Amino acid sequence: MADPKGFLSIPRRPLPRRPVRERVADWNEVHTGQELLPVVAAQADRCMDCGIPFCHSGCPLGNLIPEWNELAARGDWRAAGERLHATDNFPEFTGRLCPAPCESACVLGINADPVTIRDVEVAVADHAWAGGALPARPPERLSGRTVAVVGSGPAGLAAAQQLTRAGHTVTVYERADRVGGLLRYGIPEFKMEKRHLDRRIRQMREEGTRFRTGVRVGADLDAADLLRRSDAVVVAVGATDPRELPVPGRGLAGVHQAMEYLPLANRVCEGDFAVPPVTAEGRDVVIVGGGDTGADCLGTVLRQRAASVVQLDINPRPGGDRAEDEPWPVYPRVYRVSPAHEEARALALPHGTGPQGPGPGWAGPCGGADPGGPGHRGGAASGGEPSGADLPPPGAVGDVRVFSASTLRFEGDAVGRVRALHLAEAEPGSRRPRPGTERAVPVQLVLLALGFRGPERDGGLVEQLGLRFDARGTLARDAGFGAGTEGVFVAGDAGRGQSLVVWAIAEGRSAAAAVDRYLTGGTDLPAPVRPADRPLAV
Ligand SMILES: Cc1cc2nc3c(=O)[nH]c(=O)nc-3n(C[C@H](O)[C@H](O)[C@H](O)COP(=O)(O)OP(=O)(O)OC[C@H]3O[C@@H](n4cnc5c(N)ncnc54)[C@H](O)[C@@H]3O)c2cc1C
Ligand code: SF4
Repeated sequence: MADPKGFLSIPRRPLPRRPVRERVADWNEVHTGQELLPVVAAQADRCMDCGIPFCHSGCPLGNLIPEWNELAARGDWRAAGERLHATDNFPEFTGRLCPAPCESACVLGINADPVTIRDVEVAVADHAWAGGALPARPPERLSGRTVAVVGSGPAGLAAAQQLTRAGHTVTVYERADRVGGLLRYGIPEFKMEKRHLDRRIRQMREEGTRFRTGVRVGADLDAADLLRRSDAVVVAVGATDPRELPVPGRGLAGVHQAMEYLPLANRVCEGDFAVPPVTAEGRDVVIVGGGDTGADCLGTVLRQRAASVVQLDINPRPGGDRAEDEPWPVYPRVYRVSPAHEEARALALPHGTGPQGPGPGWAGPCGGADPGGPGHRGGAASGGEPSGADLPPPGAVGDVRVFSASTLRFEGDAVGRVRALHLAEAEPGSRRPRPGTERAVPVQLVLLALGFRGPERDGGLVEQLGLRFDARGTLARDAGFGAGTEGVFVAGDAGRGQSLVVWAIAEGRSAAAAVDRYLTGGTDLPAPVRPADRPLAV
């Protein structure tokens, strides 16, 4: 602590977001960035150094938060970067994407606003990159052991970086045409610009990690052969088998899974298409599902100039404060307004006005180019105005979310395209539709964002490696990440179920430690989580 009373004298001040109309006009990140370092340092100075830092327990990586807060508060960004990288391979990802369970567990949060831990983290990480403090760290000597990592999401990347740096020869196999998993083709550009991912991949290549894209292990490459040719295999294939909505009309044209839609928008930003094959432009859109994937669809729909949008959530609207059964330090279910919700509210699109041309003031095509230098977090600075400064007054415009909404069926037109969605109010508890509450909303594009069941089951990988599914529908593994087949390990969402980037990185690190021990008989690599660990709960 540079100032022991900082938490008393300095109010919490999150990184500002760019004005809504500016940010929906491009695909860059919603926050402003590096020019606010002094503000971030002051925010870091709010850390009380409380003695028993529960934030450590909130973070699956065990990030040394009070230590880098103190270094950042003193302006020693280089040392802060070293402490941060001691526990997190990719803090520029988590600093942008993590929902920050650490902040829910911050001791200051018991009776005041918690420290803006995630903002400090991203500032420290960006500063380390900008200052050239993150050169490639190739191993001093090679072990002569080879490891195949299947899947290049954050779990596979973290495992690969740890194992490469430990001296093993690592090849990452990825079925997609580019590396990154959901970081590349799920998470939209406006949450994390892909140049951050590309920079890490470059660093990993320089360290010696090899990447083979366009290879679906189990189909294009026999997994049993791969195991025979490798000393160990890490299966980090994610959990992207989507939940379905088995209601009449599901097969109509215009009804898509979120993950059939989001990757196409990301591909526009990668330069693969000028216009995505599925677009919201000029359409009335309904997003079914109230979670984070739904919010990502919402932000994308807005940037594609939809005529209108509604998001349906089958759950009742959460309260504004922690419920009694979710006390500090657990991550509570409360009513949250994501940047995408803030945008939708500000743009206030009346539902049922499409199909039509784009409205005035809407987004142009994907910017694609990187407009900023190192550390830039998305477009022009907003001048430091508080989040939502360009919003209409509270209550002037409603939320695009409809809570307690149960989808009954889709109605099609004469050529088999969806034209209406019928919904009813969901009974609390049973979620059954309440009789007499049915209504229809016009729609030309439906996006299903209902979560994921587990790893995809087709493709041969599971059979060829002798993997098993557990009762939760994820790949079974023992307490040491072992899959039950000699030399095969499971990491990330594939074993945990759809989770968070921070958990995937923590799993990748822990699985790497298990592999290193298997290959060499011992390990110095850290193992922040065990397979059975779960987020803080009561
Ligand atoms: C739309 C969306 C938005 C999200 N936003 C956030 C967020 O903001 N913050 C957050 O913390 N979390 C977010 N998540 C969750 C987070 O992205 C995941 O928890 C995380 O990516 C899991 O990492 P992983 O490495 O286990 O798997 P994934 O990222 O799913 O990567 C698995 C990789 O394996 C590849 N693969 C699969 N099978 C094979 C095969 N047979 N051969 C070769 N390759 C194969 C896949 O193509 C994929 O690239 C989001 C998830 C989604 C769907
Ligand atoms: S990774 Fe997430 S939980 Fe961990 S310190 Fe960063 S924001 Fe907090």
